[in-house]
Amino acid sequence: MQLAQRVKSLTPSTTLAITAKAKELKAQGHDVIGLGAGEPDYNTPQHIIDAAVQSMNEGQTKYTAASGLPTLKAEISKKFKQDQGIDIDPADIIVTSGAKHALYTLFQVILDEGDEVIIPIPYWVSYPEQVKLAGGVPVYVEGKEENEYKITAEQLAEAITEKTKAVIINSPSNPTGMLYSEEELTALGELCLKHDVLIISDEIYEKLTYSGHKHVSIAQISPELKEQTIIINGVSKSHSMTGWRIGYAAGSKEIIQAMTNLASHSTSNPTTTAQYGTIAAYSGPQDTLEEMRTAFEHRLNVIYDKLIKIPGFTCIKPQGAFYLFPNVKQAAELTGYADVDAFAKGLLEDAMVAVIPGSGFGSPNNIRLSYATSLDLLEAAVERIHQFVEKKM
Ligand code: PLP
Repeated sequence: MQLAQRVKSLTPSTTLAITAKAKELKAQGHDVIGLGAGEPDYNTPQHIIDAAVQSMNEGQTKYTAASGLPTLKAEISKKFKQDQGIDIDPADIIVTSGAKHALYTLFQVILDEGDEVIIPIPYWVSYPEQVKLAGGVPVYVEGKEENEYKITAEQLAEAITEKTKAVIINSPSNPTGMLYSEEELTALGELCLKHDVLIISDEIYEKLTYSGHKHVSIAQISPELKEQTIIINGVSKSHSMTGWRIGYAAGSKEIIQAMTNLASHSTSNPTTTAQYGTIAAYSGPQDTLEEMRTAFEHRLNVIYDKLIKIPGFTCIKPQGAFYLFPNVKQAAELTGYADVDAFAKGLLEDAMVAVIPGSGFGSPNNIRLSYATSLDLLEAAVERIHQFVEKKM
């Protein structure tokens, strides 16, 4: 059978190859330390689990409205007011099966064949594929290392064409952990307003910021920018709820309505039980979030100092999320590898440390290390990497 053209051109996730290899080595009894995790190593807080169980026991096990439970949308609206100071009508919110599916549905409803979406490099792996699946064309703009991997307004201005439909801003960023400041967002936003480019603001790591850095949403800067922006967020990273699959999109009534229509013919509602858990996540105590954030910050501080001592490693200190994204091009050269992909493979095979090559994020000189794992393991992993590099030099 001939598969559809649209899936034939899908790029398989580069993270999968290394994760599969790490699993294979583990199965053979090797002591592999995996630094590939894209999810917090904490359990979902107990009160959220209890609320979900209670909802099931009370018989809340049926379909909900396709765009989500009104009570949940009211909680999300309250959260926008509290955290960003912005008024979002619950009717302008759609709850989805994870932030990933919010993005997928969004591209499906805004893109026609050939429409362009500006994607800053380094990017989260799913953006280009989702744009292509909707018939769109990814237009890449490189966030330079010297600008903390962020794009500038000048670069954005150069990339905008008549076909530009949207630009993605992911702050804090996966994979770099960097945050856009209010000034930077204002400059980017002005261009988007001038050229009527929709801003897609992926704020999934909003709650995980460090060293006094604070997340600013582009939508909170001015009413005009709020109108121009679709915010994407969810509870996967903030509340350690990756497996619950609850995310959401908020913004233009017209777009949210179109997304709801599409959802009504694809997923219907996101899982009812998970929605009840999310109501508890937003309305209940938030202390476990701070506990997790503090632990991440401590781990980052401890291992960052060790990581930058490795020969051939340079790394800008991340301000958020839970990833380090060192440039290891020089380390790959020093150790005799052809490129960073080969270096990452060698690191796994020789030192038993699994990291994600940056090529999957559009940055072939980098690797991504997740610190969503225990400090003991992190310290052991960084020590192994250091020894691996010194031994091969
Ligand atoms: N956006 C970014 C930048 C992410 O890193 C992720 C998850 O890795 C998502 C969106 C998707 O999150 P969810 O688990 O809610 O689908």
